[in-house]
Amino acid sequence: MLLKVSGINPLICLGIESTADNLGVGIASSDGMILANEVKVHVPDLGGIHPREAARHHSENIGSVITAALTKAQITAKDIDFVSFAQGPGLGPCLRTGATGARALASYLKVPLVGVNHCISHIEVGRLATGAKDPLTLYVSGGNTIVSGFESGRYRVFGETLDIAIGNCLDTFARLAGLEYPGGPAIEKFAAQGSKLIPLPYAVKGMDMSFSGLLTAVSNEFRSGKHCIPDLCFSLQETGYAMLGEVTERALAHTRKPELLLTGGVGANKRLRSVIREIAEEQGAKPYYVPISLATDNGAMIAWTGILAYTHGIRTPIETSYVDPRWRLDEVEIPWR
Ligand code: AMP
Ligand code: MG
Repeated sequence: MLLKVSGINPLICLGIESTADNLGVGIASSDGMILANEVKVHVPDLGGIHPREAARHHSENIGSVITAALTKAQITAKDIDFVSFAQGPGLGPCLRTGATGARALASYLKVPLVGVNHCISHIEVGRLATGAKDPLTLYVSGGNTIVSGFESGRYRVFGETLDIAIGNCLDTFARLAGLEYPGGPAIEKFAAQGSKLIPLPYAVKGMDMSFSGLLTAVSNEFRSGKHCIPDLCFSLQETGYAMLGEVTERALAHTRKPELLLTGGVGANKRLRSVIREIAEEQGAKPYYVPISLATDNGAMIAWTGILAYTHGIRTPIETSYVDPRWRLDEVEIPWR
């Protein structure tokens, strides 16, 4: 339970994450505590995420997830000093649902609203959770593939996907091959039993990557009936993670960052973790892995970034709190670093 004594008590932020299939509500305090991190995941009946169906899931559940987070944090709504939400990037209908909930809560409680960038939130909660101070970050998830590091007031992008995210590539192939949802863990399991490297397109262009050709090629190899699932999964992982590794290593060598942070849902993968470990060793950097509950899409990262933003003067008036499905992390000035 939180006792409010003015002047000594930390500020409390409730953060709402709804950029894709996860609806998350987190509660963080300005002394760096994560008080709650509740998540409800929309699982599509068939196929990939349908934005409007995911948005309906979020609007049906947002009330109960907020209540669950307050209960977990052992606070009441009156203890919330401000509300933050993921303003982008993400799927429009999903973002709008979370934003609507955040606006409603902030105006009901008469507290400020703070819109934060989803990708920056991944990095910030990763720094909080691991203690990394100035890492180069590889952020790999269902919707994003970004190599980023802080430089002159912003998180700069050193490399990114030109088309689909690595997680999307894994999930789509898994669905085609009839593997469990989500695809990443299922592919990891089969890959451990594979050994034959099927040639697949390795697409690193400058510092950027493309995974759509890889997805098409591995899908065609599957349809050809010439390979077993373990070899297909092994080859997909080896090729995709080698691409991520090459770009990450070059960015690390270029920036000379002392730390390498792996985050996003795909960061749970043991093979990718070993690639990251080797690169870090080679470049004399320290590797960090974000605990899975804070590495996948979650509300705690939005709440914590809300704290950083709010305590550095950032406010988002309701009138200008539009979501931006394409909001890049390198567009955001970072006053807290
Ligand atoms: P996120 O978008 O950050 O919530 O993470 C979800 C993505 O992570 C999905 O694409 C999953 O397939 C992927 N994922 C989760 N666990 C693993 C794993 N062990 N290996 C590879 N990908 C994974
Ligand atoms: Mg997700």
